[in-house]
Amino acid sequence: MSDAGIVIVGSGHAGLSTAETLRRRGYPGRVRLVGDEAGLPYQRPPLSKQFLKGEWDETRLIQRNAEFYVKHDIELIQGHRVIGVDPDHYSLELDSGEQLTWDKLVLTTGSRLKRLPVPGEGAEGVYYLRTLAQAKALRAALTDVTRVVVIGGGFIGLEATAAFVDAGKQVCVLNGADTLLPRAASALVARYMASLHQARGVQIENGIAVAAINAHNGRVLDVALQDGRTFPADIVLVGIGVEPDATLAEAAGLKCKDGVLIDELCRTSAPDILAAGDCARFRHPLYHRLVRLESIQNAIEQGKHVAATLLGDSEPYAAVPWFWSDQYDTKLQIAGLADGHDLEVIRGDEQGGSFSVFCYARRRLLAVESINAPADHMISRRLIQSAISPTADDAANPNFNLRDLL
Ligand code: NAP
Repeated sequence: MSDAGIVIVGSGHAGLSTAETLRRRGYPGRVRLVGDEAGLPYQRPPLSKQFLKGEWDETRLIQRNAEFYVKHDIELIQGHRVIGVDPDHYSLELDSGEQLTWDKLVLTTGSRLKRLPVPGEGAEGVYYLRTLAQAKALRAALTDVTRVVVIGGGFIGLEATAAFVDAGKQVCVLNGADTLLPRAASALVARYMASLHQARGVQIENGIAVAAINAHNGRVLDVALQDGRTFPADIVLVGIGVEPDATLAEAAGLKCKDGVLIDELCRTSAPDILAAGDCARFRHPLYHRLVRLESIQNAIEQGKHVAATLLGDSEPYAAVPWFWSDQYDTKLQIAGLADGHDLEVIRGDEQGGSFSVFCYARRRLLAVESINAPADHMISRRLIQSAISPTADDAANPNFNLRDLL
């Protein structure tokens, strides 16, 4: 081994978590963290929440100050894109032309936005929301507008909608799927979240197909649907999902399939190259299928796991996936993955706005979605991790103490 140490490509949550864990656990070698955005690594979840609402400023988003990196000897190479990786020669190339060598490489390249493939998508007044720069542009644009059209009814679209409504805007959500949050939530929770927005005057159109964004003098005017309807807009936010950024891995010949394929120790198909976070696909031992998780929890946990593997541990990665979303005064928390469920059981008071939906497949608990019910969420994570499934009757019975099952 040379003294090149570990290079981490991607300074999002997974990359920083890897670097921090390496140092916290005493890794003595060189650690370099390369990111394509300028500035210090920042938190993404508040971009569509506190930052968009103007409650947080930019400095509060910063994960660690500059002294932290100096103190822990983590070399930050920000504002540079890695344009190629050579697994045979243990080297990579930056967009500046500089070559870096490594003993171990970690790919935490995350995901990239899907662009809306319609005419007018590039008009002035059309925004996307993933980076701090995009969030700043959107926040600045809000001051002068009344009508906002949001395209996409996923987490980005709905969290931003809540921020827009709080700022007094008229909002219309145009969603391709037949329900909101189609990838993340059960039909019941999707309906509940829709009712929250509709009660505040938000118009929601599911199952639509956007035909074009019409503009006047280059500036957005309205959004036209394939069914002929148009929705006037001062600005448009597009939040139609992301795709894994596996470009480098693919070009380097690593095995990829909708993401970089990794094993239970986060190792790719190439020796000494590992991966974690949104870009990585792996077989989840609790669900017995390949998954790729777009969540900060997975990015952080998997980043820690990569570090552990690099330090010689051999524990398989098996963390229960979990997600959360804040919209208005409602906290949605999801433990587990509900795909393929055949039964939804309600626990708690749906009318009162504090309840959970237990999702089962063939009587096995897959996921629990909690609305303003944090205790249910915490216990559910432990149940799913331990592969314990309460009966549907016990789950529905608020007097049954789920902790007794652990
Ligand atoms: P998303 O959760 O995948 O939701 C995208 C939504 O847009 C879906 O409802 C999708 O419906 C719809 N859609 C897709 N193409 C469309 C089109 N052409 N026209 C209209 N609707 C269309 O993605 P996202 O909300 O953009 O979020 C991006 C990423 O950030 C995701 O990884 C998300 O998990 C993450 N994020 C997470 C949180 C959180 O966990 N709280 C918050 C913000 C962002 P179909 O499925 O039918 O295409």
